[in-house]
Amino acid sequence: MADDGGSDDPRLPEPEPHRRAPEAGRPWLQQNRNLALGLGCVALCGVIALAVASMVSSDRQRAKVGSPPPTSSAPPVAATPPAAPGAPEVPLPLVTEGDALDYESDDGEPRQPAKPTPPRAYTTVAQAAVESCTTASVDGLSRQIIAQARCIKPNQFVPLPSRPNLVIASQVFPYLELEAKNRLLKALDSKPKQKMTINSALRTVAQQYLVWRWSATKRCGVPLATPPGESNHEIGTALDIAEAGTWRPVLEAQQFKWLGPSDRVHFDYRGGGAAQNAGTDVMAFQKLWNRNHPEDKINEDGRYNAAVEQRLKQSPPAGFPLGASCAKSSPGKR
Ligand SMILES: [Zn+2]
Repeated sequence: MADDGGSDDPRLPEPEPHRRAPEAGRPWLQQNRNLALGLGCVALCGVIALAVASMVSSDRQRAKVGSPPPTSSAPPVAATPPAAPGAPEVPLPLVTEGDALDYESDDGEPRQPAKPTPPRAYTTVAQAAVESCTTASVDGLSRQIIAQARCIKPNQFVPLPSRPNLVIASQVFPYLELEAKNRLLKALDSKPKQKMTINSALRTVAQQYLVWRWSATKRCGVPLATPPGESNHEIGTALDIAEAGTWRPVLEAQQFKWLGPSDRVHFDYRGGGAAQNAGTDVMAFQKLWNRNHPEDKINEDGRYNAAVEQRLKQSPPAGFPLGASCAKSSPGKR
């Protein structure tokens, strides 16, 4: 070990000038390459570490505050909620109506919504036809039409009394023509333990307009519908019954005719004594329109035509300011 390295050799200082001489003209960097590399590496690692720490801190801050970082180049929409508070209401997609595809029977007869939801407010019947999928969207106007029709022909739309075995879907207007109502009650009372679910009874011209438009535009699951003014649902003699198969013989005994495979839920009362007055609902609408539009009067003849349709499309789905009136001249209140 004594000769190890020879560091204590008195000859050691001698070679130093020999080594130093050629290095005297070289830059410091070249002379201390290893040191410089080490320092550079440490500095680089430090910068990277600082950058990572900064990013993590920034992300934490963003998550806490819920806003994008001020220097971030990410698009601001990523942190913006879909419906910003204060933004104008945008028509919702039809599927969120909660009642889409409720009308899927063969002729577009309404069925009970699986989850009834309050209908949105629409400005016109035309808008409701385009944007809604429930006849409840014209509920207010329909109630006025029924009330006015009952002024015109009280026996055309008679309220259906309750029965223990009768279930009426929420969107249904439970009115029938007088004789049809009496015969239906006989059928119900002859099978007191057999449940009947009515998914459609009276339908106003406003409702029929919607169903017809949905059929024409292939919306809301309506493949086929009768034009307004022509449906037996508008005169109070038609019924859509969920348990059509079990009730068919009972109803046929009471002069209700099953429409057939093309519309398996639909029955029409065809017995005697029924007032088959077509157009009572249309006439009721005409009277309501004229009462609210004295400057634009139309014929009150109960006929559905282009003039009626044009006014119906403009009408408020929630109802006119002036509602039904049985008086000849005095305007009614809503
Ligand atoms: Zn029907």
